[in-house]
Amino acid sequence: MTKERYIGRFAPSPSGLLHFGSLLSATVSYLDAKNKNGLWKLRIDDIDEERSKPQNTIEIINQLKAYGLFPDEIYHQSEHIKDYESYLNKIPKSLLYLCKCNRKRIQSLPQSKLGNIYDGICRDLDHNSGSTRVRSMNMSKKFYDLNFGETQINDEEIYDFIIKRKDSFAYQFCCVIDDFLQGVTNVTRGSDLLYSTLQQRFIQKLLNLPELDYFHHPVLVIDSKKISKSEDATPVKKENRLKNMIKILTLLNQTLPSQKLSYDELIKHAIQNWESKDIPKVMNISIS
Ligand code: GLU
Repeated sequence: MTKERYIGRFAPSPSGLLHFGSLLSATVSYLDAKNKNGLWKLRIDDIDEERSKPQNTIEIINQLKAYGLFPDEIYHQSEHIKDYESYLNKIPKSLLYLCKCNRKRIQSLPQSKLGNIYDGICRDLDHNSGSTRVRSMNMSKKFYDLNFGETQINDEEIYDFIIKRKDSFAYQFCCVIDDFLQGVTNVTRGSDLLYSTLQQRFIQKLLNLPELDYFHHPVLVIDSKKISKSEDATPVKKENRLKNMIKILTLLNQTLPSQKLSYDELIKHAIQNWESKDIPKVMNISIS
């Protein structure tokens, strides 16, 4: 049987520019796709208009190109609101309900690996406005991650999650539709989204969309905090690309070339010698 062509993707949120941690993520998904002769698509997660700055989108694309990571397609979430509407309409109404609980109440509920465990108090209240939740009791508790292997949560960690807020769609929902519309076959992303996969697979199943392969890589931490755009991580610069890429490949346990290469040759070498099985199977890796 011929396997369909590998299509990978990288999905940054343009609330900030690419820092070292997000460059590592882009690199993992790029090298995995190109090693398998696949396509590598870029998705800009710009549905949250308040936090997304158009200038950041332009600069993120420039940063990726400066690092030799050229996307085969560029997709903007903000251009797909109609698609989200139409897919939401395909979910049986009996599985959805509106919830009026505020953030403070939700945050007071116990935590699971997926977030605060919603207790379902709005489930049978028939509100006519609020956030849309999906009844999730039939969600699978486990999946097989290509890096971490069998990944599982407990029964009591499952809760009805939000797929649409009053005026914007939620990440878990958009991500499923986007991956489908971009023809993605392999999702390669940071371990902070490992358990989200269960909710995303549940939505795929409700919509009869194909199941994808997932590979989660460790997230970088400095002093045990995730490097995120909201913290003071600085945007990666082209001048440092050789040094940064060697550092990334070293952190990922990849074989480095034995002689000095130009940057473009280094990327070629990295594609040819890519071994996803050598990436550390840990949730976080620390750098100083
Ligand atoms: N935009 C998300 C983030 O930056 C990534 C979503 C994904 O890869 O599924 O965390």
